[in-house]
Amino acid sequence: MSVLSASASALKRNIVAAARGQRMLNGRTLAPTVNHGSSAGLKVLAVLYKGGEAAKQEPRLLGSVENQLGIREWLEAQGHEYIVTDSKEGPDSVFQKELKDTDILITTPFHPGYLTRELIKTAPRLKLCVTAGVGSDHIDLDAAVEREIQVLEVTGSNVVSVAEHVMMSILLLVHNFVPAHEMIERGEWQVSDIARNAFDLEGKVIGTLGAGRIGRLVLERLKPFNPKELLYYDYAPLSAENAEKLGARRVEDLKEFVSQCDIITINAPLHEGTRGLVNADLLSHFKPGAWLVNTARGAICVAEDVAAALKTGQLNGYAGDVWNVQPAPRDHPWRHMKNHLGGGNGMVPHYSGTTLDAQARYAAGTKEILERYFEGKAQEPANVIVGLGKYETKSYGQR
Ligand code: NAP
Repeated sequence: MSVLSASASALKRNIVAAARGQRMLNGRTLAPTVNHGSSAGLKVLAVLYKGGEAAKQEPRLLGSVENQLGIREWLEAQGHEYIVTDSKEGPDSVFQKELKDTDILITTPFHPGYLTRELIKTAPRLKLCVTAGVGSDHIDLDAAVEREIQVLEVTGSNVVSVAEHVMMSILLLVHNFVPAHEMIERGEWQVSDIARNAFDLEGKVIGTLGAGRIGRLVLERLKPFNPKELLYYDYAPLSAENAEKLGARRVEDLKEFVSQCDIITINAPLHEGTRGLVNADLLSHFKPGAWLVNTARGAICVAEDVAAALKTGQLNGYAGDVWNVQPAPRDHPWRHMKNHLGGGNGMVPHYSGTTLDAQARYAAGTKEILERYFEGKAQEPANVIVGLGKYETKSYGQR
């Protein structure tokens, strides 16, 4: 294509984009922004987790109620009101009460303020939701589309943190680490009780369900362990460059995929196509004694079915940090489930994506999203989940 015709087609793309209300820069579509009339005097509500003493001692715990993403002074200097709370359940919660006249809602996946369709009806002024982190399934996205509420997240902000947590979880399950450490704390020493269920990663078949940002980082980190094979299950094949770099084989049928893996890691978003995907039926197709790591979303797995599979030995271990309800109730089966040898549980609270390094990134990303919004600038396309009245990502919504 000549330079002239290339610029002519770029111009044509710009005209088409302008007609659709989008803006383009160097051929890249920039996500639209809202003209909300005024960029001062807005009410911003943030639902964050309580940091307690730890947050007082550690100012880098930016994602906590105490440290408020580090944006209070900045917001108030511009004349905005900023309410921060961890109280999020029920009609008397600060979240539900303050939502009624909120313009901008900030939430985090670690202590999700569940923004249901019903709650959206109570918030006529709500125009923008920002997820401080990655994963916006705690928001009724279809309702947000209908109400023209934009939903943005800080895409990529914690993907390395999660990928490292996945690696740790795979290793601790396969090497039977948790029962070994518990034995030491009990004052005991019986190597054979641990070694009877400890293995190496080398030589195993390892697969990721979802080969997006996190899935690809996990594959990259697994490769030096010399697995027998790396597999992935995703809607689309990896790019030629990634396929070559990662050396992973795509399996297009889900049951085929799970039946070939010794170890499976879940790295897909929670949406109607993945909710309850790992249930008793799918688990029956797993290799007997497989290990499963889920740092994506708890509700992708059916909690009782996973606990039952661990009990029967269909699973040798399950680890992750995400739960179908957060905070998880004290009697949640995943807190206490065990395999028949009394191990195989690597569950922790939801924190893989909220390391101090990740918090610095998602706090800065949240501020940048707000800054662009206040100034009427286009948002980074990768951050936009729901734009003005439509999905801007393939990750959620109808496929
Ligand atoms: P991403 O880059 O969007 O990658 C997700 C991948 O999963 C995409 O390739 C997507 O395909 C694929 N996918 C979607 N539905 C699938 C299905 N039914 N079967 C197979 N593959 C499917 O997202 P990411 O940054 O890697 O994050 C993945 C998820 O991890 C997030 O959505 C979030 O829920 C979770 N997460 C957890 C934490 C934590 O702290 N535990 C932190 C960050 C993220 P398409 O692109 O074609 O849709």
